[in-house]
Parts: sequence; structure tokens; C-alpha cells
Amino acid sequence: MKRRDFLTTTAIATSGLALSACQRAEEKTAEGTAKKLQQKKVTLQLATSWPAHFPIMGTGVDTFAKRCFELSAGSLEIKIYPKNILVPALEVFDATSASQIDAFHSGVYYWKGKNPAFSIFGGMPLGLTSEEMITWMKFGGGYALWREMYAKFNLYPLIGGTTGPQMGGWFKKEIRTLQDLQGIKMRMPGLGGEVMKKLGVNPVLLPAGEIYTALERGTIDATEWVGPALDTMMGFSKVAPYYYKGWHEPGSILELTFNKTRWEKLSKQHQAIITSASEEMTSTMLQEFRYKNAKALQDLPKNVKIKTFSSEIMDAAKEALEEVLVQESQKSQDFTRALQSYQAFIALNTPWSDISTKHFLNLRE
Ligand code: CA
Repeated sequence: MKRRDFLTTTAIATSGLALSACQRAEEKTAEGTAKKLQQKKVTLQLATSWPAHFPIMGTGVDTFAKRCFELSAGSLEIKIYPKNILVPALEVFDATSASQIDAFHSGVYYWKGKNPAFSIFGGMPLGLTSEEMITWMKFGGGYALWREMYAKFNLYPLIGGTTGPQMGGWFKKEIRTLQDLQGIKMRMPGLGGEVMKKLGVNPVLLPAGEIYTALERGTIDATEWVGPALDTMMGFSKVAPYYYKGWHEPGSILELTFNKTRWEKLSKQHQAIITSASEEMTSTMLQEFRYKNAKALQDLPKNVKIKTFSSEIMDAAKEALEEVLVQESQKSQDFTRALQSYQAFIALNTPWSDISTKHFLNLRE
């Protein structure tokens, strides 16, 4: 072998050695990291406000937990407990706040009794759509306020899905005028319920399992729920065939909320995995709602009559909403702060929305 060849061969061999040593070191580090993650296997208990595997909302959380497990190579296990297994449906907030469980999945507006501002983070009648709500949260300051206000309950919230636009509800009789609404008993939560109250409706809050029976027996005259996909499953059309287009929930936000102390003890990797999986859950849930609502609308029972509330009723609802917002602002400084941030985003968003999304939708007609 010539000297030059020897040098070249040696150089290649040496660099090969250096490379494989380097690779081995990298593999060792990766192994070490994986081992570290595996050693620190974490199991979290998450309770929901839904029955087991409830379509879209419940199955969304199931998939979220599965994704966390996969992405963490099995080091992060989130155990899902449907409503009433560990804690009753509407006690998940308190149980997580008190560190009895690690996390929950629910709807934000259920907790307006804790702080009136929370109803704004859940969505506003006649307000922002799901896409706009998420934009306000992430870019317009909504998340920062929500997290600050939840921190007082030792909670750390993430958006845990969104329903897209909801329908206005099922009525036993046709509602033509404001007069027709007087004294009607309707299952209706959140700010929408407050507005309806001002229009003469008697809003009641009933858990999912009791709505159909109450409607059938005449204990209530109307109910709102979600949209065609979930509503038709509940059988409302059999007893209340007038199905009104929505106004009160244009883009409701669901939440995936953690006990803050527990959240802060999680590794950065586990926090990142949960955050990513929650974002995936949110976009998938929105798409699933859209697709399944579209399908269910096509297959609505023949007796269902789709109706639009009259402009008399909608004008009165807008006025009533203004009154409710003033009333709530006077009661709570947090509500005022959240509302100001929300309205600042509307002012920024509307001109662009008008010449883009709205324009395109109008062109399609
Ligand atoms: Ca609803």
C-alpha cells in the first residue's frame, strides 16, 4: 500500500470510528432520555362531565388520552373517568381544584357561579365562532386572562375541543312572536339562558339524562342541546319538532383543565405532549362535529320543521344581551376585564372577517 493510500484509508477508518463513537454516544443519550421518561411513568386521573364514550365529546377525550400514551412511549397514562364514577358530572371543577383528581374535561360555562367571567371563556351568544374564539384565546389575550383567573382555583386550563355552531333548540310549539315565548320553560344554560329570561322565558338547567323525559312529560316546553348529530340521538324530535337555528352558542369552547400544582410537577416533555394532543383534539373535534352535523341534518326525521327566530325576537335578544353584559360587569371586575378583551378582539376581527369569511360565504349562495 502506498503511503498516500494508507493515509486516506486510515483517515476514513478513523473518521468511521469517530462517527460510530459519536452515533453510539447519541444512541446512549437517547436511550438515557427514554429510560428517564420510562422511569418517571406518570398516571393522571381525569374525570369528565359526560357519560362513558359519549359521542364526539367523550370519544374526543378517549383519543386524547391514547395520543398522550403513544407520544410519550407509554410514560404518560391518562385514565378517563366518565361522569359520576369518581365525581358527579358538575363537581369535576371543585374536585380538581381540591387536588382530589388531577384533571377534568367539561364545559367552561358550567362554572359561572364561581366567577361570572368564566361564561365568556366558554363562548358568547351572538358572538365569536369556534375558530374566532380559539384565535382570541391564543393571540388576543383570552388564554392569559383565563389562566390568571383559574389560577386562583389552583387550576391550569387548556382548550379541550369546541362544538362549532350550535342550534337554537327544540320547541313543542312554533314560536312566531315574543308573546309566544312568555312563560315557556326551557332547558338553557349560560349567558343564553340569562338572555332568554329577559325575554320572558323560564330557563332551567337539567343534566343530559333528564332532558328527554322532562320534555315528554311537559315539565319543560323546549330545550337546547348541541346540534343535529347529538340532538337526534336524544330523540327530541319526537316530542318537540320545531327546531330553531342557533344564536346563543356560535362556538362553544370545552376545557381540559389540570390541577395547577400537578401540572407544574409534570416534566416539560409531558406538558408539551399534553398541549400538542389537546390541540389535535380541538381541531379534530371541530371537524367531526361539522361532518356529523351535516350528515345528521340530511337524515333528520321527516316531522322536524327547521325554523328561524323572527327579527322581532332576535332584536330583543340583542338588546337583552347588552343588558346582561352591563349587569354582569357591574357585579364583577373580572367579567369586565374579560369582556373588554373579548370586545377588543371583535373590533379587530370584524372588518377582516366581513371582507373574507363572510364575503366568501355570501358568494357561495
Ligand atoms: Ca348547548
